[in-house]
Amino acid sequence: MTADVASRIRRVQASMVGQSVDALLVTPSADLRYLTGYDARPLERLTALVVPAASEPVLLVPALERAEAERSAAALAGMQVLLHEETDDALAMALDVVPDAALVTVDDHMWAARVLAIQAARPTVSVRAAGRLLAGLRMRKGRDEVASLRQAAAAIDRVHARMGEFLRVGRSEREAAALIAGAILAEGHATVDFVIVGSGPNGASPHHSVSDRVIEPGDPVVVDIGGSTADGYRSDCTRTYVVGAEPDAAFAEYYDVLLQAQRTQCDFARAGVTAESVDRVGRRVLADAGYAEFFVHRTGHGIGLETHEEPYIVEGNQLVLEAGMAFSIEPGIYLPGQHGARIEDIVIANHEGVERLNTTTRELSVLEG
Ligand code: ZN
Ligand code: ZN
Ligand code: ZN
Repeated sequence: MTADVASRIRRVQASMVGQSVDALLVTPSADLRYLTGYDARPLERLTALVVPAASEPVLLVPALERAEAERSAAALAGMQVLLHEETDDALAMALDVVPDAALVTVDDHMWAARVLAIQAARPTVSVRAAGRLLAGLRMRKGRDEVASLRQAAAAIDRVHARMGEFLRVGRSEREAAALIAGAILAEGHATVDFVIVGSGPNGASPHHSVSDRVIEPGDPVVVDIGGSTADGYRSDCTRTYVVGAEPDAAFAEYYDVLLQAQRTQCDFARAGVTAESVDRVGRRVLADAGYAEFFVHRTGHGIGLETHEEPYIVEGNQLVLEAGMAFSIEPGIYLPGQHGARIEDIVIANHEGVERLNTTTRELSVLEG
């Protein structure tokens, strides 16, 4: 899929003019990939997209990476690729593209050393983080991006559908995770981004990754997995399973409450409501059932070329959701020392509600183990 990079550049330039920004410098990051289709690594040699507010952008790359840069969507669409040799002052070359800039913005992930070098080279220039300038564009997904997210979600759903192969009594979380990682690639991802297998008490730690703990009969197991497809779009889906025997009664009781909270949030979310209101409706269901203190994180995050990006579904975010925004709805209940559960779907907002991209069952499934 060739991203429509020319229109993205035009839109970012329009935002720059609106905010009196003279230049935007973007080093290897999801922002660079979004604006150029170029998936470069952040290395010691400078790679930078330089976007002046009112003239043509330039992609500055080390000479040895010429072939890769020239295959990018931006270069194919006619963007100038400027090469620097090993002994060139690459940063000076980048700044020479925007000699009169007074206000320069840089991507949020630019190395601090580079930001400081820009300030040292141009002491009179104001340097700011591009932040919302780019987030504002990236969180409103185009049709091609939604199609890519749908494809990523379908691939991770195929892995969840096979979970009975991976979660077994007597197998460690680490062993299960290695098998799951293999399946993430086999089912159509280009990279494995993360594999969380939280069995028993480890399920009560939302960002637990894996350990050598061995799965026991009746263990609830939180499995939160994701990867990226060849065009860079991410999957992220959590299901909570029980392995080998029925779970204890307390778990079954709160799992039902969690399921109801997640459904309430998915039914409520749509274009026109605020991000924080989606968080609130779920939190209310949990609070009414007495679990308020056990839901210890925000409801969700945007997703696209990064797994966590705007919009964040969190109290205090009064952003009004729009059609085409993609984000997770992933409430959880975590009982320290015992077990936990989380249910996560990626959704796309529209005017009537949301489309859930993940569709494997959310009902409590007891795997044979
Ligand atoms: Zn997370
Ligand atoms: Zn997740
Ligand atoms: Zn997530």
